[in-house]
Amino acid sequence: MDLFDVTIIGGGPAGLYSAFYSGLRNMKTKIIDVQPILGGKVNTYPEKVLWDVGGLPPMQAQQFVQNLINQANTFLPTICLNTKVEQIEKHGDIFVISTNSGEVHYSKTIIVAVGGGILNPIKLEIDCAKKYEKTNLHYTISGLERFRNKKVLVSGGGNGAIDWAVELLLVANEVVVIYRKDQLTAHESQVEKLKEHGVQIMLNAEIQDLISNEDKTAIEEVVVSQNGDTYQLQVDDVLISHGYNREVSLTFADDIKPLLKNDYYLVSQGQCKTSVPGIFGAGDIISYDDKVGLIVGTFQDAVLAVNNAKLYIDPQADQYAMVSSHNEKFNEKNRELLKEIFYKA
Ligand SMILES: Cc1cc2nc3c(=O)[nH]c(=O)nc-3n(C[C@H](O)[C@H](O)[C@H](O)COP(=O)(O)OP(=O)(O)OC[C@H]3O[C@@H](n4cnc5c(N)ncnc54)[C@H](O)[C@@H]3O)c2cc1C
Repeated sequence: MDLFDVTIIGGGPAGLYSAFYSGLRNMKTKIIDVQPILGGKVNTYPEKVLWDVGGLPPMQAQQFVQNLINQANTFLPTICLNTKVEQIEKHGDIFVISTNSGEVHYSKTIIVAVGGGILNPIKLEIDCAKKYEKTNLHYTISGLERFRNKKVLVSGGGNGAIDWAVELLLVANEVVVIYRKDQLTAHESQVEKLKEHGVQIMLNAEIQDLISNEDKTAIEEVVVSQNGDTYQLQVDDVLISHGYNREVSLTFADDIKPLLKNDYYLVSQGQCKTSVPGIFGAGDIISYDDKVGLIVGTFQDAVLAVNNAKLYIDPQADQYAMVSSHNEKFNEKNRELLKEIFYKA
């Protein structure tokens, strides 16, 4: 049996930073993620520019994910991708983690960092919609360049939809936003940007139908209903951002069921401990008063979860890791880095 000190379920920002910190605390660490790549939800907005992560210049999310992965790899954790954790049990002192591949993992502690779970975009409920997913009907944007000089209709009014509409202004010829409610619900500053660019915003409006081109491979026009009237809008591409359905994939055996909020979120008992000793939570999955549901918040959770995992395994251990500037684990690496900086200068 290959026993790990810490197994982190989920390789988003919370999981990746937990992996780094767990290595810093000398623990044998594993990350398991259902996706083929690390990065979590941030991979759903690769080209968005992140401004609000402390100490970093504004950068595209894909670059930020790469930085996180590099940092997570500092202490060489074991990484299992394409692996969905299905059930967690406890046999004696050891957590037994079953996965969809049939492979079983063993760990002294667990950090649950599954964020919003496995996210599937809410699809457009129109009969013919599926076939256009191969051409010009999108549920996310994996590259802005594809939309250069195009007319793009964005359906949705929340942060996801409006952030994309703002990004599209950089390349698209024209952006139209339609939303079923009477007011957009995204951040005001982003909505302001759309207005400054004269973007057409249709409220109380919904997609009724999609009209294809001659060879029936792509959408050519979108039929929109608004306040009892219908309009046909010629488009090059359609982006649907109606939110996500959450697949709650992970279950706990009856004797180690943590306290949950809204049947999903782990309730923190303080310091990112769950109600089950040895199981900790970090990132969007853990709930407590004054929680910051942003990337920066995931880092604090990760530190707390890891430090408490360390104490669970070894109650005599220091409560906190030594700060990195004084931490002897970095002595050798610091020498290499400083040499590089010296030679570059
Ligand atoms: C459109 C959008 C824009 C955003 N912009 C910003 C921003 O500008 N700044 C900011 O700070 N935050 C932003 N956020 C929020 C930020 O992305 C999240 O707070 C952050 O990703 C949460 O990290 P996490 O690690 O807790 O969860 P996630 O990033 O959701 O990662 C969870 C991981 O767990 C995996 N997983 C789930 N279930 C299982 C399972 N059963 N087995 C194995 N793996 C599993 C998933 O595959 C995923 O990789 C944005 C979010 C969205 C949706």
